[in-house]
Amino acid sequence: MDYVTIEKKINRQDKPPNMQGYLQSYDDFSWQQANALIKGYKNGINIGYEAVDRHVEEGHGEQTAIIFLGKKGQRQILSYRQLQQSSNRFANLLNHLQVEKGHLLCSLTDRSSTMYTAIIGCLKSGVVFCPLFAAFGPEPIKSRMKIGGARLLLTSARLYCKKIASWRDELQSLQQVLLYDCQGQCPEGCVDLDLVLSQYSDDYPICETAAQDTALLHFTSGTTGKPKGVVHVHEAVIYHKYSGYCALDIHPQDIYWCTADPGWVTGISYGVISPLCNRATLIVDNAEFDPIRWYSILQIEKVNIWYTAPTAIRMLMKSGSELCQQYDLSALRFLASVGEPLNPEAVVWSQEFLGKPFHDNWWQTETGGIMLANFIGENVKPGSMGRPLPGIQASIVKTDKQGHIIKVITPGESGELAFKPGWPSMFRNYLNETERYQSCFKDDWYLSGDLAYQDEDGYFWFVGRSSDLIKSAGHLIGPFEVESALVEHPAVVEAGVIGIPDPVSGEIVKAFVSLKFGYEPNEALLKSIMAHARKKLGSALAPRTIVIKQNLPKTRSGKIMRRLLKARELGLSEGDLSTLESDENDSIKPNNEDYLYEEKKP
Ligand code: ATP
Ligand code: MG
Repeated sequence: MDYVTIEKKINRQDKPPNMQGYLQSYDDFSWQQANALIKGYKNGINIGYEAVDRHVEEGHGEQTAIIFLGKKGQRQILSYRQLQQSSNRFANLLNHLQVEKGHLLCSLTDRSSTMYTAIIGCLKSGVVFCPLFAAFGPEPIKSRMKIGGARLLLTSARLYCKKIASWRDELQSLQQVLLYDCQGQCPEGCVDLDLVLSQYSDDYPICETAAQDTALLHFTSGTTGKPKGVVHVHEAVIYHKYSGYCALDIHPQDIYWCTADPGWVTGISYGVISPLCNRATLIVDNAEFDPIRWYSILQIEKVNIWYTAPTAIRMLMKSGSELCQQYDLSALRFLASVGEPLNPEAVVWSQEFLGKPFHDNWWQTETGGIMLANFIGENVKPGSMGRPLPGIQASIVKTDKQGHIIKVITPGESGELAFKPGWPSMFRNYLNETERYQSCFKDDWYLSGDLAYQDEDGYFWFVGRSSDLIKSAGHLIGPFEVESALVEHPAVVEAGVIGIPDPVSGEIVKAFVSLKFGYEPNEALLKSIMAHARKKLGSALAPRTIVIKQNLPKTRSGKIMRRLLKARELGLSEGDLSTLESDENDSIKPNNEDYLYEEKKP
């Protein structure tokens, strides 16, 4: 199927979009306007102030800031004033512990209110906040804390005993461990937060942080290799606020749900900072993905803006269209997706069954914020990542024979996705890897490491990571194109495509697919998927081999790990697996011959 651009009609009852007309906004943009969205604190900028205290000062202290939904149906509400006060107590505790501006606190928590209190408290006190994913095992936790030189750890008593206690003494930089949920049994050498926090004042003089002071340390997802520590500064808040305003269309008091875990950059930039800065009411769900639960939350909480990821969308599709039709999702105004390529099929599905298309957008840990987006008032091209935000100069580039960057101006021709540096949330370093950081910049362009192309309307289309590109018989094949064609088959819900060496073609395309609920793997089905791929892609691009695997290897943030599919396929070292979803390890083995279909050579 060729996908048709989804033309937007704005419902009269909807709030008018923050950004009125893309092209005009792009032309009219000035950083002064974006800077004016934030207030600044004394002579500098402080993210915690912009996210919370500012709203209280402006008379919105009683507005609900966060609604926490517990696993067993509990519902806890925190107003902006309460968040201000709890974060002040936390900041006072940090001062008391003699933690200083620039020191690092790592958090290893579930989506509890303590974590949200801590992040704002850290930012207000100038302490650098580094989220770690709670499902990490001891080794990835230790290595990240070591790289960062963590002074403090925030975690629950349960996670501490299970994952930290046995090696805590090995980490010399670590001064204090702050625990919540101790239930009166705080392990020795730790601070019982539930006990001590209330003793601190809920007034706090916010630390005067400069725009360029480090605020956050984020580790990348580890999709292409060992995760990198990415450094961000307080000035980033300008972009957090601005991009939430224009790319996610967040209005004050919107009910906003970002499903990303706060262990990753999306869960912080757009799960905490951006929506709070834009004075939304955040939904935070502490349970794991479950289609019934998710649709219920959308309905009961009357969510207006929903920011999620392709893997979750595909799981919802997998659970069937009938399910979503049982819910009233009429409060939804804007649906967005990030993290992985969003197959056009998913956009069309959401338009049909949720009544609105998912708006794909693109960014990375390094960019700190959304760079390319499909916008609310603009037409959506299913399968495209959209266009650069006003203020962002994006281009497709290649290197000439002298090694200089040249811009690709022919629509449809792919190259590396690059940006003119200078937007406020751009990373400032890879921790302890300055050379690597510098190598990302060439001829005044930031090179993203992703391949894409731009069409004649200025929309960008993802091709693949440069490390995932397949070179077959003189063709350069991006895995995304092949994967998208495969998921158009009615039985296929997810696909991961890699190149494997071939003496004749250089590389040949091999695909791994997982099936929708109700489909049984068998040879006839594989043949039909193969026939579909050949018809859609032609023989040059179609996979030579297709394997059915019900669980593709993914990072804990839900990205398909093509490098792992490839390493297993070729018997190579599997590399850093710290971010691999753990239950995946046992559930698939490479080359399940039962469900493998190989095309005979012509
Ligand atoms: P690592 O850098 O450790 O390999 P990672 O790149 O997956 O991990 P992140 O910074 O979390 O870590 O992810 C950013 C990457 O995710 C982008 O560079 C891109 O490859 C992919 N991505 C994000 N959004 C999109 C999108 N809308 N379409 C296609 N790819 C996307
Ligand atoms: Mg990356």
